Amino acid sequence: MEASSQFASVRNLRIVLVGTQHPGNIGSAARAMKTMGLSSLVLVAPEKAPDRDTHAMAAGADDLVETAPIFATLAEAVADCRWVLGCTARSRRIQLEPLNPRDAARRATAAAVGGPVALVFGRERSGLDNVEMALCNAAVHIPSDPEFSSLNLAAAVQVLSYELRCAMLEGLPAAAIGDPAPRTPPADAQTATHAQLEGLFEHLAVTLEAIDFHKGRAPESALRKLRRLYLRANLDAAEVRLLHGILADSERMARLAGSHTTRDEIL
Ligand code: SAH
Repeated sequence: MEASSQFASVRNLRIVLVGTQHPGNIGSAARAMKTMGLSSLVLVAPEKAPDRDTHAMAAGADDLVETAPIFATLAEAVADCRWVLGCTARSRRIQLEPLNPRDAARRATAAAVGGPVALVFGRERSGLDNVEMALCNAAVHIPSDPEFSSLNLAAAVQVLSYELRCAMLEGLPAAAIGDPAPRTPPADAQTATHAQLEGLFEHLAVTLEAIDFHKGRAPESALRKLRRLYLRANLDAAEVRLLHGILADSERMARLAGSHTTRDEIL
């Protein structure tokens, strides 16, 4: 049996490399993944397309590189994902729920039962930018020495891939003997996708303007906090629809209030 096929959730565990600068690192990351039975590699706007260096470093994991889709933005790469983890070398000033690799891997493998889950890795020089981190549900930090905290990109992929494999192996005996109560609860298959959440955030931004929530203040800070709140809440698709409904009614009431004001002013 092929190593990876023993785990049902493995095809839903996606490693996303954003803006990779050295093509060799793409190959090293693919090798790191394949040793741990992972196969789903996704690239976002690499600075240089995979080349000979990539294949030299892949050392037999070339299939992962060859089948890796390339997206222009992180939002597109994770649009269908139900949980997105941003891996960051910076332990401080993270505005997201912080997770260590072990807890992240356990939760990711559980969530992957219900749909695609992404672990996102940043650029060698600058990591992930704030906009990219804002797309993530939580942040993973490998507890490295704070004085020298940044691992090589492929080394970071190796640590997380290893933890994912351990998490899958932990779950295996229960699954193999048909245990009705697995240790990690399966993710709800209805969990909202990232594209659905982004649609909600756009609607929220429009509605907050319509009800004059910001009152002259810049909207970014409130929107950032609300985004964090809703990403943490692990909404399902029905809850997203409910919130859209509330927003639509708020807009309708704002329009009515606007027309009343106009009428009052006229009277
Ligand atoms: N100089 C960059 C580090 C980039 S290292 C910075 O300050 O952010 C390339 C990528 O490897 C990072 O974006 C991150 O995804 C991953 N990485 C490196 N060290 C890590 C660590 N200690 N914990 C989690 N991810 C790490």
